[in-house]
Amino acid sequence: MVDIKGNSVIEENDPYYQSRVRADSYSPGSSSPSSSSDYVTGDADSSDSRGTIPQSLKSVEIMLSMSQETTEVELQDMVNRCKTMVLESAECSDERKWLVRRLIELRLRVQQMREASDQKLLETQLIMGHHFVPQKYYIIKTGSVYCDQCSGTIWTMLQSWYKCNDCKFCCHWKCLANVCRVCVHVIASEAGGYTHTMDICPEQGLSKQNYRCAECRVRITFKSAWIEPRLCDYDGLYYCQKCHWNTATVIPARVIRNWDMEPRLVSRVSAQFLTLLENRSVLPLEKLNPKLFTLVPDLALVKRMREEMQMMKKYLVLCTEAAVQGLPWKTSLRSHMVENSSNYSVKDLVDLQNGVLLDELRITYDAMQTHIMQQCELCKARGHLCEICGNDDVIFPWDASSIICQQCSAVHHRVCWSKHNHCCPRCPRLQKRLALKEQAAEDITTIAENVAKDS
Ligand SMILES: [Zn+2]
Ligand SMILES: [Zn+2]
Ligand SMILES: [Zn+2]
Ligand SMILES: [Zn+2]
Ligand SMILES: [Zn+2]
Ligand SMILES: [Zn+2]
Repeated sequence: MVDIKGNSVIEENDPYYQSRVRADSYSPGSSSPSSSSDYVTGDADSSDSRGTIPQSLKSVEIMLSMSQETTEVELQDMVNRCKTMVLESAECSDERKWLVRRLIELRLRVQQMREASDQKLLETQLIMGHHFVPQKYYIIKTGSVYCDQCSGTIWTMLQSWYKCNDCKFCCHWKCLANVCRVCVHVIASEAGGYTHTMDICPEQGLSKQNYRCAECRVRITFKSAWIEPRLCDYDGLYYCQKCHWNTATVIPARVIRNWDMEPRLVSRVSAQFLTLLENRSVLPLEKLNPKLFTLVPDLALVKRMREEMQMMKKYLVLCTEAAVQGLPWKTSLRSHMVENSSNYSVKDLVDLQNGVLLDELRITYDAMQTHIMQQCELCKARGHLCEICGNDDVIFPWDASSIICQQCSAVHHRVCWSKHNHCCPRCPRLQKRLALKEQAAEDITTIAENVAKDS
């Protein structure tokens, strides 16, 4: 992602900006959060998850309540239980919303406890679902840092500032109280699963927004030279310059519909949301656009490799030797590639286009295949023999020269299968056995009925 900050000239001429700069100007005394204890804007217990408990969670609420006496171990236990319940709850339900909020509170409390015991450092702040961690003593090596609230530069060596652990929102200490953007991590967790819009830049016009910024509600109009409306290509809404920094990023809907990887300009909230989901495998691509698999040959290849890896995985998960080698999971940075064969992340698709994904997949694929077919006697012994030719060389379902019977899953040589008129010798045998079993069951029922009649 590239930040193109195009607002510095405008800000200097803007009377509103100037007065803001004066009021906010840095003074060493006021920049230490620890010296100002009344500046607590987010207390873990005051979040609104208390007020609106879904009826079904009334009993759970007691289980997940913390008091002054709650220990760190108990809290950690609650975190784990809450996490499991979040995963089990229905997507987009009130239950999930409540549980996610409670989970954030619990985690924050665990962190606060650790920090308190850890020489009472500056406190983590929970505001609008963000998990703001003080950054005062961290030295930033890469480029400038900008405040997501006021869009001004953060002088990292001089000013106290915070960064959200979950969404990377950066903020001056003095701007914490004004944060109005809900953490995109919370939004993404509440929505769950596939959360990208399929519409390409669903713009409805500035009048629909009453000529106000979609986020901070400041007045924006094309007539004013100072506050120019900026369109976000992801959500189609207009933002002010403070909330839209012309960040260029790949738009999922454009990739899915047109295989278009060209970065477009988006608002800060969209940029953070897209960064957060970039690596998550939330796109059931074939369902969303099956045509892509015929139009992009590499995508079809990835699909086939993933399907074959699913077959290999069945061997590897049962082999202790494979576990020692870190197979099947450790070989890939993207474990979802091995986990399932259908879901993709936006990053996968971008990496497919630039060649990184296929190289990475081949390494994993080869490691899995070599283990099963060459290195491990145990896995090899679980291979198949072709019943048609009776030959004793071991074959595997993902071999290009083998074919699987769709009815009984037996594996045969492709050549033998063709010669045998695509008939499986195992299927009739299984059918016969099944028929005998059914007959026996029928006989037993008849006898039982007769006995019952007689008595
Ligand atoms: Zn956040
Ligand atoms: Zn700021
Ligand atoms: Zn704004
Ligand atoms: Zn093995
Ligand atoms: Zn054969
Ligand atoms: Zn068969």
